[in-house]
Amino acid sequence: MRLAALALGLLTSIAAAAFANVPPAQWRGVPVLMYHKVDAIVPADAVGRDLTVAPASFAAQLRWLRAHHIRTLTAAALADALRRGQHPQRAVVLTFDDGYEDAATTALPLLRANHATATFYISSGFIGTPRHLSWAQVRTLQAAGMEIACHGTYHLDLSQLDRAEQMREAKHCIETFARYLHGFRPVTYAYPAGQYDATTFVVMAQLGMRLAFTEHPGTVRSLRARYESPRRRVRRDDDLATFAALATP
Ligand SMILES: [Zn+2]
Repeated sequence: MRLAALALGLLTSIAAAAFANVPPAQWRGVPVLMYHKVDAIVPADAVGRDLTVAPASFAAQLRWLRAHHIRTLTAAALADALRRGQHPQRAVVLTFDDGYEDAATTALPLLRANHATATFYISSGFIGTPRHLSWAQVRTLQAAGMEIACHGTYHLDLSQLDRAEQMREAKHCIETFARYLHGFRPVTYAYPAGQYDATTFVVMAQLGMRLAFTEHPGTVRSLRARYESPRRRVRRDDDLATFAALATP
């Protein structure tokens, strides 16, 4: 009797595990989406315009994710899931680069309203400068459950730096957050302009980064190439069908 109960329990847990862990062959990974600004103010230059998603568009994208039961993970949560051998389904990671102030004033209220989380890749050296986040705003993002992570100190292209310079640029960002956020140490990184080289892998490993993002196409499928993780750019003119394709593995 006890044996039968044990066997039943075992079968139940095997079934539960099967639901939680889809066989890797059928699993197509988690898309990681890259935003810069969500703002009603549209920059005049073509590049700035392309990087600025209208608040109404972003709200529609968040509603689309909810309607399709696609949950948002932070990059750190994705790294944790992969480390545990899980293969998240119907999941997406939303990321915001550079640390503009609209992250707190515009993106955050929309994320909250839609019960979504995101990862904010902030260049620490620009915090408190015009049009960028203040430390109070960075703390507000963190208190709301958002991941605060590194995008360099001065947004330098790591592939143009030697090893000591790369280490300084990345380490200073991490240590600045630790100093201003009560010892909090970021665990993921996004390379400015998506640029890196072989030296960057050594630097990221030494700093204990769990994932680092490029702008390569594709989805995150494993931690094997953890420092060359792909991201998909969301552009201002993307309609919902384009967004749906980006958010689907
Ligand atoms: Zn950037």
